[in-house]
Amino acid sequence: MEQEHKGLEQAKSLWIADSQKHSFPAVHEDLTADVIIVGGGITGIATAFEMTERGLDVIIIDADQLLQGTTGHTTAKITSQHDVYYHELIQQIGMPKARLYVEANENAKELIQARVKKYDIDCQLEVKDAYLYTKEESGVKKLKKELDAYKQLGIDREWKTSLPFAADIKAALAMTQQAQFHPLHYLNALIDQLVERGVRIYEQTTAVDVKEGNRPAVITKDGHHLTGRYIISCSHFPFYDGKGLYFTRIHPEQSYVVAAKTTKPLPDGMYLGIDQPAHSLRTAEWHGEEVVLIGGEGHKTGQGGDESAHYEGLERFGEATLGIEEVLYRWSTHDMVTMDQIPYIGRLTKHHQNIFVATGFRKWGMTTSHVAATLIGDLIEGKSNPYESIFTPSRPVSDSFVKDFVKENSNVAANLISGKLKRTDQTIDDLKPGEGGIVSYEHKKCGAFKSEDGNIFLVDTTCTHLGCEVAWNNSDRTWDCPCHGSRFSITGEVVEGPAKKPLKRSYKEQ
Ligand SMILES: Cc1cc2nc3c(=O)[nH]c(=O)nc-3n(C[C@H](O)[C@H](O)[C@H](O)COP(=O)(O)OP(=O)(O)OC[C@H]3O[C@@H](n4cnc5c(N)ncnc54)[C@H](O)[C@@H]3O)c2cc1C
Repeated sequence: MEQEHKGLEQAKSLWIADSQKHSFPAVHEDLTADVIIVGGGITGIATAFEMTERGLDVIIIDADQLLQGTTGHTTAKITSQHDVYYHELIQQIGMPKARLYVEANENAKELIQARVKKYDIDCQLEVKDAYLYTKEESGVKKLKKELDAYKQLGIDREWKTSLPFAADIKAALAMTQQAQFHPLHYLNALIDQLVERGVRIYEQTTAVDVKEGNRPAVITKDGHHLTGRYIISCSHFPFYDGKGLYFTRIHPEQSYVVAAKTTKPLPDGMYLGIDQPAHSLRTAEWHGEEVVLIGGEGHKTGQGGDESAHYEGLERFGEATLGIEEVLYRWSTHDMVTMDQIPYIGRLTKHHQNIFVATGFRKWGMTTSHVAATLIGDLIEGKSNPYESIFTPSRPVSDSFVKDFVKENSNVAANLISGKLKRTDQTIDDLKPGEGGIVSYEHKKCGAFKSEDGNIFLVDTTCTHLGCEVAWNNSDRTWDCPCHGSRFSITGEVVEGPAKKPLKRSYKEQ
């Protein structure tokens, strides 16, 4: 009755479509190494690379295949321009630490550039200025404050009152000498190096727990123990909480990307509009031609309404700005955001000396993943690192963020119960082919998807992570959890964690 059907395949990114996949076996036995890294996205790969530079023996495991998570769906601007950020950051952590934040990210950018050069990696790396721009008076005020912050922080910049692609622009702020690349070409080259250096890499191996101790072990879904001196969680949402209460301190935010051939070229640069809905633009190479990646329309995962409306929004913006000749790919994914908007990089909690975490990159993970790699490398080697106190997950949280913390939690709590209380009159018969949604079936509420050939796929809509109600995402054909971002296929399989178990399918299907 069923066909193999994994929702996200329809929403392949240009990067994934345009690169070779490595293939590695699953773990079938207990293993030991100096460092066990869980997660094979940019954070896991960059961190493994750093560990080998420091002479450590490394194992990497990934629940799926390497680079198919958020990293495979990014827009890959390598920049310290993290949206309109620095004016607020100076208020939040003070000038000296804000300077260190910029320095950490600039160092990371230079590290990537130096590595590309050293290993002669063909990854379309290009130096470009990164622009924030606005078409609104209120935006000009924000950008002026940001410009002031750039001056105080010593960031190389340019102020503009027009941009070639948008006549109605009021102001633009450039951070000069930033960069963009093809993330998977870069990371695949690092993976080749890791293999040469003897790093053991395993795919289709899910970490489900940790046995703490002097020599901690990652426990896999099949019950194997991967014992190391150090464990590093690079699983995006931390796979192991260790009483760090991460599920109350981070939330996922979804964004969309369209790759298109445009009628007008994008002027040299990478762009981010700061008016809502925010839109991002950069070029990429596709089969020798220049195409444009149009990104944005972000919202909390599972709470954005009809996903196809967001793709339409991007295409309308692309058409109005550059003219769209052909849409090549559409995709969406989410990134983790911390309560105070600064990544969590460091010891899992202050009680963990040998378990580390890197998460919460707020859609700026190209540089912050590399900040994580070097910072965690220093912590492991017992070296002092100037950025430790900025990124430590154990940092104190100010009152204003505690308010946000409560707001986020009430939102999660609401999602825990609201879906369960909501009744539905919709039945399977109401679904059109190719449509999914919550239906009433045999007097019970469940999630249903009707395929084009009329097959019905039913799932229990209770997320197997912490019990929130998943919501149907019609564009990607996935069930998405609004609380922590787990995503499930129409057959209930985990497409993206933190959930480790599939949705229940205890219903008789048609
Ligand atoms: C639309 C969008 C655009 C973006 N654009 C930019 C940009 O222009 N510039 C920028 O700097 N950043 C950008 N970002 C952010 C950046 O892409 C992310 O911060 C980064 O890719 C996160 O990488 P990661 O390795 O931490 O996570 P992932 O790439 O998601 O990797 C985590 C890996 O862990 C594995 N995993 C999860 N759970 C387990 C488990 N239990 N056991 C084993 N393995 C597990 C997963 O399978 C996955 O492969 C963007 C983000 C989005 C959403």
